[in-house]
Amino acid sequence: MGQPSFLCDTNQLRHVAVVKSETPLPLGVGYYRRFLFCFPLQNLTPLLDCQYNSYTLRSHTLQTKLRPYQLEAVTEIRMHAAQWAASGKVVESTDEPQKGCVLQMPTGAGKTATFCDLIMGAYNKGKCAIMAVRGKELVHQASERLTREGVPHGIYQGAKTKDTHHRVLVCSIDTMARRGIAPESDLIVLDECHLTHSASYKWFLSNYLNTYKLGVSATPHHKDGMGHIGNKLIYPITINELIHQGFLCGARYFTPYIPDLKGVKKTKGDYNAKELSTKSIKDEDLTASAAKVWDKNLRGISTLAYAVSVEHAEHLARSLADAGARVSTITAKTPDAERASCLDGLQSGGLDVIVSVGVLTTGVDIPSLGAILCCRPTESYNLWIQILGRGTRPFNGKSNFVVYDLSGNLLRHGPIEAEIIADMEGMTEPPKVKIIICEECFATFERLPGVDCCPSCGHDIPAAQKARETGKRIHGLTANDEVVEHVVEPWELEMGQLIKMAKDRGYKKGWIRYRIQEQHGEEVANKAWHRIKVLRKWPVKTKKQQEDQAHFTNSLSNSFW
Ligand SMILES: [Zn+2]
Repeated sequence: MGQPSFLCDTNQLRHVAVVKSETPLPLGVGYYRRFLFCFPLQNLTPLLDCQYNSYTLRSHTLQTKLRPYQLEAVTEIRMHAAQWAASGKVVESTDEPQKGCVLQMPTGAGKTATFCDLIMGAYNKGKCAIMAVRGKELVHQASERLTREGVPHGIYQGAKTKDTHHRVLVCSIDTMARRGIAPESDLIVLDECHLTHSASYKWFLSNYLNTYKLGVSATPHHKDGMGHIGNKLIYPITINELIHQGFLCGARYFTPYIPDLKGVKKTKGDYNAKELSTKSIKDEDLTASAAKVWDKNLRGISTLAYAVSVEHAEHLARSLADAGARVSTITAKTPDAERASCLDGLQSGGLDVIVSVGVLTTGVDIPSLGAILCCRPTESYNLWIQILGRGTRPFNGKSNFVVYDLSGNLLRHGPIEAEIIADMEGMTEPPKVKIIICEECFATFERLPGVDCCPSCGHDIPAAQKARETGKRIHGLTANDEVVEHVVEPWELEMGQLIKMAKDRGYKKGWIRYRIQEQHGEEVANKAWHRIKVLRKWPVKTKKQQEDQAHFTNSLSNSFW
């Protein structure tokens, strides 16, 4: 008897238990504890030594070709997983270092393609993978993407739950926690992993102490760190590199108005939404500035505006409409169809502005977006970066996008280009950036040596004008605040990031010099080298570690995914 035909289609199924038994069993297919049993039609004996993995699985390849840095990330993740597997360590509680890693990649760098490749790898090896996300939007997006890549999968999401027998599952975390379901899996992917500190995620993850977890986010920053997911950060490319390589667009910043937020209380680390809303609606200067900015600078440019609350959004939309803009608002309550038609309108030019509240920060893709008008002050660095990330997608003829910040966020958190590398242990302070606001056009830029006029309008920068320092610690600066003595140059910011990367990856110091030289030339590289060479505590890889690494790389093809 050859291969039993009833198993041929099961490569799409979640589990196939090969039952070892001499006794003939009943006919058919059945479930037992989430395992799907396929019973032979006549007798189980021919199945006795059948190994599930020995069946040839249909080969899938990703429809999207990975970029070099995505491939690098995939290899690094698999290597890390292989190291865990080889160590044979068993994790017994959530207090121990967890088996997994966090992948930090800027919005638009292709996080989804990267983790889809890993899921595909797992699938191809007959393993199970779960993607856990929060909210129906992300479930829908993930499912669509997997379908596009040709990965058969099931869904757990409220009433839309279906095909849960598949080996790849997209799960809404709330559904899982509410129903108390934690299907077995060989890989757990957590998209937008900066949101995984909630009780439902904690419960869910506690079921997978010995399953490899991959957290993915553009901003994996949280005050408690990311140790609940894994013990390693993977950071394959910086946003500046992506901009230089043409994968993303950079921004030009303008600060025409800085709201006075004195007296607004904080709730859960951010401004109290209700107080902020009342204050913003009453702030006539803010509303007038927004309308003026649109009228003067943003006509004909598709614009996404951010408001504090539904009332504030409506208020803002009215004033923009009065200035002549075709405006729609999107809130959490906007029906899906209406929302899609608004986004289409913005994309096709039928709408000028969408005013959004709390939504449209993650996962919304509007490549033609030309401007962000931010009227939503926030203490959350993550939220600010997610807002800016909406504009970085490249599009035909788009060389950059403009940010009109009327919220003070730029001064509070800095530009998207001054990216922070996640700290697995907690939250690192954002790097400080010294900036000048042009008195003429409000362009906001770094004060670099030798620059004495505005790069946007050419207006002279008065020698007496002081640079402002941005960063979380000194939010709420007013015009006459402290003088900043030391001007940090862009390569210095980059050097900090490169040092961390090199240490994490066990590279030698010379690698940092080489990278700086590539970007900024010999002279800057020499300057940087003076600082790098004196650094102590450089982790050096021993010959044995290097050999181990090579061994792991070679053994990857045999690892589980
Ligand atoms: Zn200017």
